[in-house]
Formats: sequence, C-alpha cells, structure tokens
Amino acid sequence: MEEKNSLIKRAVELIINAKYLTALTGAGISAESGIPTFRGKNGLWKRFRAEELATPEAFLKNPKLVWEWYKWRMEIIHKAKPNDAHLCLAKLEEFGLLKMLITQNVDGLHIKAGSSNVIELHGNIWRARCTHCGFHIAFNNPPNNVPVTCPECGKLMRPDVVWFGEPIPRDALDRAFECAFKSDVMLVIGTSLLVQPAASLPFIVLRNNGKVIEINTSNTILTRKATVFINQKATEAMKMICEEINKIMSQ
Ligand code: NAD
Ligand code: ZN
Repeated sequence: MEEKNSLIKRAVELIINAKYLTALTGAGISAESGIPTFRGKNGLWKRFRAEELATPEAFLKNPKLVWEWYKWRMEIIHKAKPNDAHLCLAKLEEFGLLKMLITQNVDGLHIKAGSSNVIELHGNIWRARCTHCGFHIAFNNPPNNVPVTCPECGKLMRPDVVWFGEPIPRDALDRAFECAFKSDVMLVIGTSLLVQPAASLPFIVLRNNGKVIEINTSNTILTRKATVFINQKATEAMKMICEEINKIMSQ
C-alpha cells in the first residue's frame, strides 16, 4: 500500500510540474467501461481474432462479416459510458495541466467525457466512408443493415478507422509526433504498445529526457524504461491521482 501511494505521489509531482503534459491511451482505458480490448481474454468475437477482422484483406474477402463485427462493437460502445479514468483526463485538461490527449481508441469516450484536445489516431467507429466516391457519413446508432452502402453512389462503405497494415492519416500522425516532441511528461494508459507508430511516442519523450508515467495492469515493452510504472487498473490509479491534484489545485 505504502509503495502504491508513493508511486501515485511521484506521478502527481510530475504532472503538476510538467510544462507540456500529454497522454497516450489505448483499449485498456475503456475496458472498465465494458468495451473489450483486442488482446484480452474478452477480445474474441465468435471465433475470430481482431487481427483477422480489422484488416483491408478481411474486408475485401467478406465485407458483411467485418461490418457485422463493427455493428457488434458499436452496440457495446453505444451502451458504454466514460469511466473515472476518462473523466480524470478531462479534468486534467480543464485544470490546464493536460495539453493534448492522443488515443488509439475508436470509441469516442474521451470526447464524451469532456476532453477537447484529442487526437484520434485510429479514427472513430461512429463514422464511415465510401470505398468508391469517398463520401463520409456519421452514425448516431449502430446501423440496421450491414454492409452499409453509400447514400450518394450506392457502393460499399467502410468503417472510417485505421486497420492493421494501413497508414494513419497524415494530419493525425504529424500532430501526434509534434505533440510527443513537445512533451516533457507523458501519461501512457492502458495500451499494450504493440501497434506502431503509436508505440514509439513515449520513447520519443524518454529520448528527449522527458518523463513517462505508465498505468497498466500488465507489463509492456515500456515498463522497464518508464519513470513511474503504476501496476493498477486505469480507473483506480487515475482516481487517486486526480484526488491529489484536486487538493493541490484548490489550495
Ligand atoms: P490492446 O488490446 O493491445 O491492449 C490493451 C492494454 O490495456 C493491455 O496492455 C492491458 O494490459 C491493458 N489493460 C487492460 N485493462 C486495463 C485496465 N483496466 N487498466 C489499465 N490497463 C488495462 O490495446 P491497444 O494497445 O489500444 O491496441 C489495440 C488497437 O485496438 C488499437 O489500435 C485500437 O484502435 C483498437 N481497439 C480500440 C478499442 C476502443 O476503441 N475501445 C477497443 C479495442 C481495440
Ligand atoms: Zn459513394
């Protein structure tokens, strides 16, 4: 317990004294909102692994199957609410401490929690684009019929997300790297750091003599190098961090 408290204290000190604090989040931060991660025990849908569905090849082969999977994920995400970790990050932005939040998640929960400075590196599940004419649509609810077709040209639409093997849109990528180069402290929450180029962002911070606070229930390739590693659930750790910061900010 003592050790846990001292790690939280160190994290709070780094956050309070940061000149340019950023955060990088992954599927683990939304796990406690009930959204399965890709690499956890709940990551399977029917008998498929995410890596077999979130690819351009899978979509070419069977667009209906891929859309069914997205529809299932949209149904889960639709019911999910931001948790304490999302809300604490929004609070850190409100305090003027957190300058930018980079997420690999497509669930939109950071924006729902009230964060405004968000870079969605892998897109957003609530958007689709036409594979033929490029027309974009936004969903409020999961679609009734899949595969979704284009209201403009009638051809097949695809989820507007980044699949394995696809490049991240230039603008989002440039902004994320710029942000990492500016960061003197980065909070890295709930990401396995197995997907590039997102995984390299905290290492840029470390290389520039910045500090990295990692919050994860498991070890990752970052863990040994992180300035502070908090081996706890995102909501528990962020709640404790935020309570301390609340006290300091209201003094
Ligand atoms: P990942 O599934 O590879 O890894 C999840 C990480 O979160 C693991 O390291 C795990 O130990 C950790 N974790 C699980 N529960 C946690 C908790 N309660 N608190 C703290 N840590 C916890 O996820 P990734 O690194 O984001 O990469 C997978 C890709 O999957 C991303 O590109 C993302 O776009 C996509 N994805 C998004 C969502 C979403 O939008 N919610 C969900 C699943 C996958
Ligand atoms: Zn079209």
